[in-house]
Amino acid sequence: MSGRVLVVDDVATNRLLLRAKLSTAYYDVVVAENGTQALDLARSEQPDMIMLDVMMPDMDGFTVCRILKSQEATAHIPVIMVTALDTPEERVRGLEVGADDFLSKPFNDLALFARVRNLMRMKMMFDELRLRDMTSRELGLTDFITEQDMDPEMGGPIMLAPKCVADGEHWASELNEKLGVSTIVTYSERESMNLAQLELPDCFVVHQDLLEGGDGLRLVSALRARPETRQSAVILVVENGDIQTAAKGLDLGASDYIEAPFDVSELIARIRSQLRRKRYSDRLRSNVRDGLKMAVIDPLTGIYNRRYASVHMGRVMERAREVGGVFAVMMVDLDRFKNVNDRYGHDAGDAVLREFSRRLQENIRGVDLVARFGGEEFFVAMPDVDEDAAAKAAERIRAAVEGTPVVLPGGAGEVHVTVSIGVAIADAHETDPDAIIKRADQALFEAKEAGRNRVTFSAAA
Ligand code: GH3
Ligand code: MG
Ligand code: MG
Repeated sequence: MSGRVLVVDDVATNRLLLRAKLSTAYYDVVVAENGTQALDLARSEQPDMIMLDVMMPDMDGFTVCRILKSQEATAHIPVIMVTALDTPEERVRGLEVGADDFLSKPFNDLALFARVRNLMRMKMMFDELRLRDMTSRELGLTDFITEQDMDPEMGGPIMLAPKCVADGEHWASELNEKLGVSTIVTYSERESMNLAQLELPDCFVVHQDLLEGGDGLRLVSALRARPETRQSAVILVVENGDIQTAAKGLDLGASDYIEAPFDVSELIARIRSQLRRKRYSDRLRSNVRDGLKMAVIDPLTGIYNRRYASVHMGRVMERAREVGGVFAVMMVDLDRFKNVNDRYGHDAGDAVLREFSRRLQENIRGVDLVARFGGEEFFVAMPDVDEDAAAKAAERIRAAVEGTPVVLPGGAGEVHVTVSIGVAIADAHETDPDAIIKRADQALFEAKEAGRNRVTFSAAA
């Protein structure tokens, strides 16, 4: 997995050095020598990552980072700030303008490559989600993600796994006070895993050494292995200078690391930036999920649409082939529904459709599928159902509609409606779903012809 890195530095030898290092690992490198050029190239080249020098004459790295993160075209590109100073204040400032990490000159190769690999992985994951999200948005299925959606102060607790009780208490009180989030302090791998199941944390802060010989890296790896905690942020705390462990942690899937002893303000800044990232990916994920849902759900009634039903039919037929059984398909249509709209209005018509869909679902089994095919026409697929059972079910549905008038919203009274139902019974020999549906349709037509409010069976195939 390689990718493209934009290296920004005003000093030529620094650019050359980084280019050489990154090229040996097969990264594709683009360079910029000042902030303005960096902003242009970030937009036009769309790198997968930016390594940004802090001290530059025209525009410093903080300013460049802030602009990159505030523009739609570049906001999603991870930024590593490269600095000679590397003080906690500088790191906090960098995190506040949206930097994803810091590296100090001269470079430690281990730290450099572990970080680059980690951010590349994250970027690829985001790219995939963003791509799907864009498709949903183009289809008009989901909305843009806003700043509010990424507020770090909403969501689950932060779980702390420090190396001693004093640290735990100190971090917890500072986080409660300065970040306004709830915390859970744990002191062993087992305790962390167990408590995380009760209330899913958004972020874990894990020290490399836990109390009584516990192993922080093993906890990181366990958190990544479990589906529930896989999307949570994990910040690994390593002892000062233990880059070996930090690099291992990043490769195991930690989102970030921090070297102890640290100023709690730096921990807070790192948590804040991880939470933003997590909110964004959660939102993308749910957008994709909602988008998928909307592609197969009828918005008026909340039941499946025709697209879903045709895929489902394939599965019902497959099952019939496997067990050599029969199944039933029904087309259910409201009688003279146009009159309801004409007399009571379209909204009343909608209310009738919703209530009808509810009664329909109430009168079938869990394994049966109801879908709205369009207008006032509904479809039911009933696996393992023969003619006798289908007749009973259809009659139950017909009676449930005729028996009780539908109460209209807004005190507009009530309306009596009836349905006609066409049923087709199919067995394992039938291979064309459309032909089965057509038979049910034909039966429905006959029910209408015969006077409506009745159930008619199609002739066998
Ligand atoms: P039939 O007994 O022969 O089925 O008569 P019908 O009036 O039910 O059938 P027709 O196909 O003539 O009219 C169906 C009506 O359903 C026309 C249309 O306005 C209405 N309709 C379709 N979709 C919706 C909807 O989503 N909401 C509402 N309120 N009405 C709908
Ligand atoms: Mg410089
Ligand atoms: Mg009708």
